[in-house]
Amino acid sequence: MKITAIREIRVPLKTNLRNAAFDFSEMTTSVVAVISDIIRDGQPLIGYAFNSTGRYACGAQMRDRFIPRLLSAKPESLLNELGNNFDPSKILACMMQREKPGGHSERSVPIGTIEVAVWDLVAKIEQKPLYAVLARLFNHDHLPVSVPCYVGGGWYAPGKGIVQLQEEIQRRMDEGYRVMKIKVGGAPIEEDMARIEAAIKIVGSPRELAVDANAAWQRPRAMEYASTLRPYGLRWLEEPTDPLDYELLSELVDLYDAPIATGENVFSTLDVNNLIRFGRLRAESDIIQIDIPQSYGITQFAQTLRMMEGLGWSRSSVFPHGGNLMTLAIVAGFGLGGCEAYPDVFGAFAGFHDDAKLSEGMIFLSDRPGIGFEGQNDLYQLMQTIVQ
Ligand SMILES: [Mg+2]
Repeated sequence: MKITAIREIRVPLKTNLRNAAFDFSEMTTSVVAVISDIIRDGQPLIGYAFNSTGRYACGAQMRDRFIPRLLSAKPESLLNELGNNFDPSKILACMMQREKPGGHSERSVPIGTIEVAVWDLVAKIEQKPLYAVLARLFNHDHLPVSVPCYVGGGWYAPGKGIVQLQEEIQRRMDEGYRVMKIKVGGAPIEEDMARIEAAIKIVGSPRELAVDANAAWQRPRAMEYASTLRPYGLRWLEEPTDPLDYELLSELVDLYDAPIATGENVFSTLDVNNLIRFGRLRAESDIIQIDIPQSYGITQFAQTLRMMEGLGWSRSSVFPHGGNLMTLAIVAGFGLGGCEAYPDVFGAFAGFHDDAKLSEGMIFLSDRPGIGFEGQNDLYQLMQTIVQ
């Protein structure tokens, strides 16, 4: 049993949306196929993944370092003890050879994307959904049929005013979502507060509305928004500071007693540890949103979760970044708080299986083997172009 090839293509996301910090006009992602020598139904068994959204394609690092390391390793050194499947922890260790400590995202994104594709392959070899494999390994075999799912949106876009924002939120409520997250901080505060008030009218309660500042604020603006938003008791305030400004984050924690969410822009276990300890985040109320394919993948995430549990955090406080099937499988497998959805936003990369059912804020899982990209037709067609 061995990996015969690993291929990557760079795909543009093609969107003119923007948040408070930047626009997505140049955004790309890497789609990866890990091809094995296992033949099933006349075809080689292949694991797929992509590097989530918000970090650019990273094929150069893959081709320069990580793919050659895996393909030059002894095949049996990448297998589990029984020799009947790949061992993602050995695959991670192989890619990490000769890597200097620190400086994570340059390699955590390409490594994590390949590692998640390997998990897709591992689950397909077992002929089980990835969430079932993860549940067995990391969550006492607990198999949910559905998981909580909130919807992200409320982007700033040309010509988009309060009416269009309310229509967007109403559409999401009609689809079955119950918690909505909108962007904040990309307009003057008076305009943003009018947007938030208008959004609360549609979702019904401030507890059903989260806002995302995308790490755009410097101290004065962060303080102004935190004190203005505080009385509302929103579901959460996301990334009110630069991801590495632990001092300002800890000051905001003192000022803002409703939940704060962050973590999608730190990429290692130690970074999350620093964020929690020095940002003084609160285990009883705050939310961690690490993007798992961008942060070395699932093996590393299991370590991050162990670290968090050691600091008194529960799995229900983790809502990973990335509204896609990879995150859905991980949330279901580990029993995390919930996943996010970004329907219609990032082309073929948005959303879940085409036959996904959503009801009362819960998304229902499929029983397709692996991550289940085969049930997301547009994305799967794109993935097929890598291996033809
Ligand atoms: Mg965010």
